[in-house]
Amino acid sequence: MNKPKIAVIGSSSMDLVVTSNRRPLAGETVLGESFETVPGGKGANQAVAAARLGADVYMIGRVGDDPYGTEILENLKREGVHTDHVEPVTHSKSGTAHIILAEGDNSIVVVKGANDYVTPDYVNQARARLAECDLVLIQQEIPEETVIETARLCKELDVPLLLNPAPAREIPEAVIEQVSYLTPNEHEAAQLFEGETLSAILKRFPNKLFITEGKAGVRFFNNQEEVVVPSFPVEAVDTTGAGDTFNAAFATAIAEGKLLFESLRFANQAAALSVTAFGAQGGMPTRAEVEKELN
Ligand code: ADP
Repeated sequence: MNKPKIAVIGSSSMDLVVTSNRRPLAGETVLGESFETVPGGKGANQAVAAARLGADVYMIGRVGDDPYGTEILENLKREGVHTDHVEPVTHSKSGTAHIILAEGDNSIVVVKGANDYVTPDYVNQARARLAECDLVLIQQEIPEETVIETARLCKELDVPLLLNPAPAREIPEAVIEQVSYLTPNEHEAAQLFEGETLSAILKRFPNKLFITEGKAGVRFFNNQEEVVVPSFPVEAVDTTGAGDTFNAAFATAIAEGKLLFESLRFANQAAALSVTAFGAQGGMPTRAEVEKELN
């Protein structure tokens, strides 16, 4: 089978992770236990996951003019993601997430950096690439205008668009009309469609709105009824990146022509495997690992 072609338009970052026994109070200094840098960002995470699952992936994003930018690019290349549309921004730092793991919880400061330069114009420069893709995948760690323009452009080019509306923010109704697939988790769905019941909104967008419900699986409206495609039971170690794996796997399956239910099963299986190991990219399974479980 030919590899499906997917463009991922989104963020990339370096996550700076400190573990500490205690969280410092304002004005206080404490000694931490460990420090690690891990490549992240929803765009890059989804690009890596889709590449491991067998897609031909083109990342459309930006890094800063700093050593993190070089590391982010090298990581994408190592994973087999095409980076010809990842252009460094000369006057900006790479996106970073500053994470403190302490007292059983995390505190995070995200600095968008170069991700703010994934602009509508920048996406339009990759228009010819988008036109030849089987599917485009986008999230919301980049400017809102870029998501709006991508929805318009994909409609014009007649390429299906999967919008993973994370993190949650208001989305114009016209954009929801233009996208082919919308995949919030439960919290994002509640914010996105404030004041409506889950059942009412699912019914409004049959076979378009897919609400992921963690270990319960994914819910949508199909053939006049609400259905849940259940997840696969696993020993969860770290659920970071479950959504990223789910979206990348769903995108890959749809792009290669799998039917809807089969695609959702594939996505649930890939995401279930991803929570059995630490880290977002750390747990993302390969195609062979997913297929072994499904058969
Ligand atoms: P997010 O990671 O964006 O918060 P969810 O928690 O809804 O999103 O998880 C996305 C998908 O990952 C789920 O639909 C499911 O397929 C899978 N998943 C998440 N948590 C688990 C779990 N504990 N066991 C099995 N699958 C899981």
